[in-house]
Amino acid sequence: MDITITRTQNPKTKPTDESKLGFARIFTDHMFIVEYDQGKGWHDARIVPYGPLSLDPASPIFHYAQEIFEGTKVYRLADGEVGSFRLRDNARRMNRSADRLCMPPLDENVQVDAIARLVDLDRDWVPGSEGTSLYIRPTMISDGCSLGANSANRFIYFVICAPTGSYYAEGMKPIRIRIEQRYVRAVKGGMGRAKTGGNYAASFKATKEAMDDGFSQVLWLDGREQKYVEEVGAMNMMFVVDNKILTAELGDTILPGVTRDSVITLAREHGIEVEERRISVSELYQAHAEGRLTEAFGTGTAAVISPVGELQYMGESIIINNKEIGPMSQFFYDTLTSLQRQKAEDTHGWTAVIPHFTKE
Ligand SMILES: *Cc1c(COP(=O)(O)O)cnc(C)c1O
Repeated sequence: MDITITRTQNPKTKPTDESKLGFARIFTDHMFIVEYDQGKGWHDARIVPYGPLSLDPASPIFHYAQEIFEGTKVYRLADGEVGSFRLRDNARRMNRSADRLCMPPLDENVQVDAIARLVDLDRDWVPGSEGTSLYIRPTMISDGCSLGANSANRFIYFVICAPTGSYYAEGMKPIRIRIEQRYVRAVKGGMGRAKTGGNYAASFKATKEAMDDGFSQVLWLDGREQKYVEEVGAMNMMFVVDNKILTAELGDTILPGVTRDSVITLAREHGIEVEERRISVSELYQAHAEGRLTEAFGTGTAAVISPVGELQYMGESIIINNKEIGPMSQFFYDTLTSLQRQKAEDTHGWTAVIPHFTKE
C-alpha cells in the first residue's frame, strides 16, 4: 500500500525533561490514517500532521462504540536506533479484535509498515532515558452518517504516538488491588477478549470506587460465578504458588496480553512451571494462609511488570511478600526490559529495528 507523506510545517517543541513525560500526555508531529469504504476496501493511506479528526455527529462511533485499539511501544537503543517489540503480535490482535467488533481487518504487513514509517518520520521524539519509550496507539473507529443500529460500512484506522516516561519514575512499588465483588468486566460470549473501548468504559466505575478507597486497580472475577480471578484493568495477572506461576486461562473473557505471552514463554524456558487454568479466590487465600502464595504481579505493555503487595476481598486483606518486589517480578521485569532495549540476545524474533525510510 502506498503511503503519501505530508510533513508538518509547524513542528512542536519536544519535551526536554524526560523525567516529566508521564503517560501519553503529548503527541508527536505526525499521525497515520487510512480509510475504508465497503466495496472499495482500504484506501488513501497517508501520514499527515497530527491534528483533530472531523466526524459527523451521526457517525456511528459516537453512538454504538464500534471501536478497537492497540498499545505497543518502541524504544531508543544503545546505538541511537529505534527498536520495536512484538509489533506484529499487536497487528494480529488488532485484526482479532476487528473480527469480534464486526470491523474489517487491515493486513498485518500494512499495519507494521505504516507504524514503522510513522515512527521513522517522528524518530526524534523517541526518548532515551531508562524506562522511557514512544507509546504507539493504533485505533480503528466506525464512521459514516446513520443512526441505524448495525455495523457501519465506513471505517478509519489511525495511529498516534506519544513519548512516555518511566512507569516507575519513583521506583517499582507493589500496588494494592481490590478483588471486585459487584461489577463484572466480561462474560462468556461477550467481548472481553477484544481490545475495545467499551470494555474500558464498563470498568471505570469500579476502578474509581476502588481508587477512592485507596486501591490502584480492581481484579475482575469471572462474570458467571464471581469466584475465579481473571485480570486487572489493563494487565493480566500472575500468581506464584509453590514456585509455579498460575494465570487465568485465555478464553472469551480475558485479553490475550503480549506481555502475558512473553512472561509465559520466558518462564517455561527458564524451567518455571506455568499453569493456565481457572484460579479461585479461595484457592489463593488458602495458599496465602499456608505460606505458599509468595508473589503476585500484573503484566502489560504500560508497566511491563507490576508487583502486587496486597489483595483485598470482601474487606479481608492479604499481604503478599511483605509488600516487597519478589524475585520473579524482578526477573521478568529485568529480562523483558533488556530484550526490549535489545541489550539481551533475542532468540524469539520479537525485536526489530525501525528502518530509515525517509531521507532528510
Ligand atoms: C492491553 C490489555 C492488557 C495487556 O496486554 P499487553 O499486550 O500485555 O499490553 C491486559 N488486559 C487488558 C484488558 C488490556 O486491554
